[in-house]
Amino acid sequence: MEKQRPLEQYRRFAQEAIAPMAKPSDLAGRLDPAVVEALRANGFLGCITPTALGGLGMDPISYGQLTAEVGRACSSARTLMTVHHLVSAAILRWGGGEVKARLVPRLARGEEIAAFALSESEAGSDASALSTTIRREGDYIFLSGEKCWVSFGQIASVILVIGRAAEGITAVLVPCDTPGLHRHAVTSMVGVRAGMMAEITFDNCKLPATAIVGRAGFGLSHVATTALDHGRYSVAWGAVGIADAAVCASYAFAKTREQFGSVLKDKPLMRARLTRISVAARAARALCMEAGRLRNAGAPSAIVETMVAKYAASKAAVYAANEAVHIHGARGLMEEQQVERLLRDAKVTEIIEGSSDILELLLGEQDLGGDLDGSFFG
Ligand SMILES: Cc1cc2nc3c(=O)[nH]c(=O)nc-3n(C[C@H](O)[C@H](O)[C@H](O)COP(=O)(O)OP(=O)(O)OC[C@H]3O[C@@H](n4cnc5c(N)ncnc54)[C@H](O)[C@@H]3O)c2cc1C
Repeated sequence: MEKQRPLEQYRRFAQEAIAPMAKPSDLAGRLDPAVVEALRANGFLGCITPTALGGLGMDPISYGQLTAEVGRACSSARTLMTVHHLVSAAILRWGGGEVKARLVPRLARGEEIAAFALSESEAGSDASALSTTIRREGDYIFLSGEKCWVSFGQIASVILVIGRAAEGITAVLVPCDTPGLHRHAVTSMVGVRAGMMAEITFDNCKLPATAIVGRAGFGLSHVATTALDHGRYSVAWGAVGIADAAVCASYAFAKTREQFGSVLKDKPLMRARLTRISVAARAARALCMEAGRLRNAGAPSAIVETMVAKYAASKAAVYAANEAVHIHGARGLMEEQQVERLLRDAKVTEIIEGSSDILELLLGEQDLGGDLDGSFFG
């Protein structure tokens, strides 16, 4: 495993290599290629991949802290890290030896960019309603269907696609130069606006049967579950970054903006607002740290605590970003100021990788109250 890097190093990287590109990327609706290059050059597209396979082999907390710093600077860059790593995580867990040896090092070195295609127009939260089909003929499979909302689908070189085979829902790895694959840029998404989203159609794409990840029928129960678990952990930390950015921007503004003869920070009501968002951001970070600790220990409860962290952190991000807009007054709604970007991007974290409603349903099945005797923190 990579020696734990100091948080300060991640912050410097994100503030120097990513933050300056966040506004132009957002306004252009396209992540600046220099950001992708900076992530690639620092090995940050292979954070979770073991060193033996060309990655950095980061522990979960280091990876989370880096993700928070990237998310604090630019949610679109964080989204690239999320989708790229969630595909790597799924292949590392369920991919065959050949695909691991061939593709994982290329992903870790950023020679390939991965995207994840689960959602369809009629199958959003309800992934079991997928209509993309995977038909087997001897040693080949044929993929047909249409996927929407594919983050970085515009630039990905390989996509992990979840579709329906005779055996049940199945995951396949699809190179983007496969004949019959067509991408259409989605340009009207205002959250994570530089996320280079695409709709992807698969018109009877012919692939070797070895493109199946894991076994046919394991696509939702195993492969997508691993991908979404990783995605939730990554999004949770990204939301911590947004909350931090909202808190910092709010303090900076309140310290200098004068109304009624003194700076806003000196007004009791403003102090209460600032305190509430600061506490929300700290609580979100604490839950992410706890999820990271459990993931590092390989604890079975890590999956549930990752959901808890994502649920809480995304709400904290929306709350803090909404307050930041309010604290900035009219300036908070100016595109040039980019405080409103925090709110647009925060809202996305409540919708993706299992919306807050779906997490309430899933967490509602857990006996979360059973932990309230304090043993959870023991
Ligand atoms: C910026 C962005 C990036 C994305 N990137 C990707 C990507 O890379 N790959 C990918 O596959 N998908 C991606 N998505 C899609 C995302 O995963 C879906 O939007 C999400 O799963 C919700 O599906 P939906 O939008 O169809 O909403 P729906 O499922 O139609 O839900 C609509 C609303 O109803 C609520 N709801 C649904 N079911 C219930 C229920 N049983 N009880 C109560 N409330 C319910 C939902 O929480 C939501 O509020 C992305 C979306 C966004 C916004």
